[in-house]
Amino acid sequence: MSDDDAPLSVVDCDAVRSALVEWYEADHRDFPWRRTTDPYSILVSEVMSQQTQLGRVVDAWEDFLAEWPTVRDLAAADRADVVRFWSDHSLGYNNRAKYLHEAARQVTEEYGGEFPDSPAELETLMGVGPYTANAVASFAFNTGDAVVDTNVKRVLHRAFSVEDDDAAFEAAAQELMPTGESRVWNNAIMELGGVACGKTPRCDEAGCPWRRWCHAYETGDFTAPDVPTQPSFEGSRRQFRGRVVRVLGEYDELALSELGPRVRVDYGPDSREWLRELVEDLAEDGLVELRGDDDTDAVGGSPGTPPDGDTDDATEVRVRLRR
Ligand code: SF4
Repeated sequence: MSDDDAPLSVVDCDAVRSALVEWYEADHRDFPWRRTTDPYSILVSEVMSQQTQLGRVVDAWEDFLAEWPTVRDLAAADRADVVRFWSDHSLGYNNRAKYLHEAARQVTEEYGGEFPDSPAELETLMGVGPYTANAVASFAFNTGDAVVDTNVKRVLHRAFSVEDDDAAFEAAAQELMPTGESRVWNNAIMELGGVACGKTPRCDEAGCPWRRWCHAYETGDFTAPDVPTQPSFEGSRRQFRGRVVRVLGEYDELALSELGPRVRVDYGPDSREWLRELVEDLAEDGLVELRGDDDTDAVGGSPGTPPDGDTDDATEVRVRLRR
């Protein structure tokens, strides 16, 4: 692949970076471990969230830190108590509790109670793999690399057409991350994958800051490495409903052949039926009005003859917002 073919070669990376960081800083889910830079607390949150939904981790994390507030406290704890805590809070495999306890001992005995700050050294701790090491380095010390998990892969694939290949994802993620800003960046891109670009995307509802660059948003193809078929039809349909309403907000009225290309760049003859059904749904929901339909007041002499001659028929359906 030449440099010109690289997925990010055609976008203004600085603008992409700023848009994401601003979006994240304006509003994000407020998990308590995002308010600390203590590596011990962050390690606990990372290990807990490997198998448990984030919302449920919050209570367990707070209880755990109330019981063992520092890495030295955990190192001095009885392992059976740590394992019991783990089971009582339904945190998944008990081995994770044992490894966490062992890692606390390592930090206390081998590092004098101070966590190492590089991903490589963090990986020497028991049960700490590359992903967790990088997360702790990023969120505690701001010294991590770009996180590449399934959420990040999904976002990069959809937004910038990064091919489904680990090396390609690593390269793109690293290129996008602003130098020395792994803390905010990794938080932000994971937030994007978590709240906006999930398997069923919420591009408009979540105010995704990458819509203007996003290939999936432009084409309506939201497949991704972990979403091999189009995500729930409703997901992408909802995107387009929102887009139709937004476009119509800028015009008094449009013929379908005028509306189509404004809603999706790949609009063509094959999409006419799809668009017609979409606007009919919107009409049934009372959001738009259709004119020129068979059973409505047909308009003659349409002023909106499309530039490419893509007329749908002589009495083309025209659509406008219901006022
Ligand atoms: S516009 Fe939609 S598909 Fe594209 S990155 Fe944002 S949320 Fe994902």
